[in-house]
Amino acid sequence: MTEETIIQETTPLVKYTLSPEQEKKEILRHYRALLGSLRPKLKKGDRELVRTAFEISVEAHKTMRRKSGEPYILHPLAVAMICVEEIGLGVRSTICALLHDTVEDTDVTLEEIQDEFGVEIAKIVDGLTKISSVMDTNTSLQAENFKKILLTLTDDPRVILIKLADRLHNMRTLDSMKKEKQLKISSETVWVYAPLAHRMGLYTIKTELEDLSMKYLETDAYKEIAKRLSETKRERTRYINEFIRPLKEKLEATGFNFEIYGRPKSIHSIWNKIKKKAVTFDEVYDLFAIRIILDAPPEKEKEQCWKVYSMITDEYNPSPERLRDWLSNPKSNGYEALHTTVMGPLGKWVEVQIRTKRMNEIAEKGLAAHYKYKEGSSDEDRFDKWFGQIREVLAQEDTDDSINFLNDFKTSFLAEEIYVYTPKGEVKMLPKGSTALDFAFSVHSEIGSHCIGAKVHHKLVPISHKLRSGDQIEIITSNKQKPTEDWLGIVVTAKAKAKIKDSLKEDKRKTAEDGKYILQRKLEGMGASYSNYNIDEVMSFYKLSSQLDLFYLIATKSLDLKELKDFNVLGDKLEPPKPKIVVTEVPTEYQKQYSKKDSELIIFGESSDKIMYTLAKCCNPIPGDAVFGFVSTGKGLIIHRTNCPNAAQLMANYGHRVVKTKWAKNKEISFLTGLKVVGVDDVGVVNKITNIISGELKINIAALTIESGDGLFEGTIKVFVHDKEELEELVERLRALQGLKVDRFDTDASKL
Ligand code: MN
Repeated sequence: MTEETIIQETTPLVKYTLSPEQEKKEILRHYRALLGSLRPKLKKGDRELVRTAFEISVEAHKTMRRKSGEPYILHPLAVAMICVEEIGLGVRSTICALLHDTVEDTDVTLEEIQDEFGVEIAKIVDGLTKISSVMDTNTSLQAENFKKILLTLTDDPRVILIKLADRLHNMRTLDSMKKEKQLKISSETVWVYAPLAHRMGLYTIKTELEDLSMKYLETDAYKEIAKRLSETKRERTRYINEFIRPLKEKLEATGFNFEIYGRPKSIHSIWNKIKKKAVTFDEVYDLFAIRIILDAPPEKEKEQCWKVYSMITDEYNPSPERLRDWLSNPKSNGYEALHTTVMGPLGKWVEVQIRTKRMNEIAEKGLAAHYKYKEGSSDEDRFDKWFGQIREVLAQEDTDDSINFLNDFKTSFLAEEIYVYTPKGEVKMLPKGSTALDFAFSVHSEIGSHCIGAKVHHKLVPISHKLRSGDQIEIITSNKQKPTEDWLGIVVTAKAKAKIKDSLKEDKRKTAEDGKYILQRKLEGMGASYSNYNIDEVMSFYKLSSQLDLFYLIATKSLDLKELKDFNVLGDKLEPPKPKIVVTEVPTEYQKQYSKKDSELIIFGESSDKIMYTLAKCCNPIPGDAVFGFVSTGKGLIIHRTNCPNAAQLMANYGHRVVKTKWAKNKEISFLTGLKVVGVDDVGVVNKITNIISGELKINIAALTIESGDGLFEGTIKVFVHDKEELEELVERLRALQGLKVDRFDTDASKL
């Protein structure tokens, strides 16, 4: 019945001032606590193994300190503690968590670990060790590292669980890092780690990761929502108690063993709702959810959950669209529960979640708890199936492009899923956004390759038709059909993508045969031999990266080889013509700016600017916004807002190209930005708006459009402002007008 508080106050940094003796005591205290948590799981000989791992780790990290000043060993100890307490992992994982940074950062080698603990543990530690050498500056090191993690994931899921514990502890202690590190790490966290935690069924960890990331990426919004949540806490608790009281009485009368309480939603999810539905904090109806946890015997679980549902809906009226039955069809990450939204007192919608103790443990500890209950479970292979799918795709996937790989992985494996049916009633799970074509490939790659359309509930639809949960699909095929380039834009699942790419490559190879023949004749006609040496000369002359591309372009007549007449032939070897020298001017100031270290602060926005930069079109930053610079390949430095919709992806994938930037104070240049206003249509409202903008604040309007209908109007205003302060004042003044909602546009202002 208590309302758990999720507002994390940032603790002020205390300088680390312990004596070596006190430090030692502190380390031992943490170690003993870890052993204490692990005690029920310790078998004979385990205690010694954990002790050895601890000692190796202490010795290896003994000279290292964390950014906060504390001894480094406290980090592996904390990660191990998270593994045991919050994820429910056992002894082997604890040992790996203690050792997780040793191979990467110290002199300890994998061989030593293998000698001491065996192959199983050495393999996991290897999976936890980052790729350290940069192979190519164009491929993203972070993406490579994610990929490595995912590859090991299929061997042993514990790698990812320990990695998540590692990330969680780093996020909890992010305060002591530098600003740009905070942004980069937080972006990676929302981009990959939180969805992974979600996919593993670790809801509590997922939520904490999202909230912590938001604290650094959207500091203002985070603080504002946290403040509003704590201000409204008393009122909310009163409401929750009033809501719960009649339910509690009824539940007690049945003799059920239960717990009932209200729980605030995470700051991040409230923020998402505010953004997605374009509402204010006060208008978010579900700031909290009611949770009922039953202690039911396994054979009575479903029955009792539905009984509780029936009691709730006797008391409060349910919304028919908001019933979620994950009892009959658990989510693929193992989540089981019954959710309903009912009309509570004062006409407020309230979400109620009904689950048993076992389901609750799975919701909190995910995978590990799932394995604990695995015996006797009816769908024990849910995770195994998932891992199997990943394995299948990894086996086919081209290993060349890790960023594409990561994006594909995200859409196919980390997205929410839908459930659809085959004509025979077999359930298939697909990521949200899947099309009829994805479904066809999920049945069989031959069916996918020949798919020309589908019937959904007996109605004919094109292959690009987006599927919804509950659809029953029949695929229509034709022998004449084959995959084309456009199909890549239609599918979202990695399996379908890989199969289509394979088929396109095969086609290309066949076509390329003709090109091979044409080139051979041409070379021989010039008196040169058809040798790899000569083919490579021609390839590099046309700046192509593979012989296949060269043959294919020749075969499709996109390359007519007429430049070959400028070549000389020496013996049987081709000699390319002397290249004409083309010099591209690169401004020297620009070169200097970027050759400096990442941590260099770039100040821009002065009228006498020497730095080439452009303001990103996706988020239109203005002075005063929190921003970062992104070194693009063609367009120099691009300035994005840190809360730009694209920022998370850029920072997560190309962290090495992100530079810290700051606005210079400047009142000479003004910046184009856009506002969206919605309000009640009223005589003279346009007048009032323009009066405030150009009359009172003397801000230049670039464009103003108003559309009205149904008593409401919607308008977009493009204005030139000098900085964020000025914009904020304008927004404030407009909001003060009766019934007017004002929001800043995130999209390209020039397209408004
Ligand atoms: Mn670590």
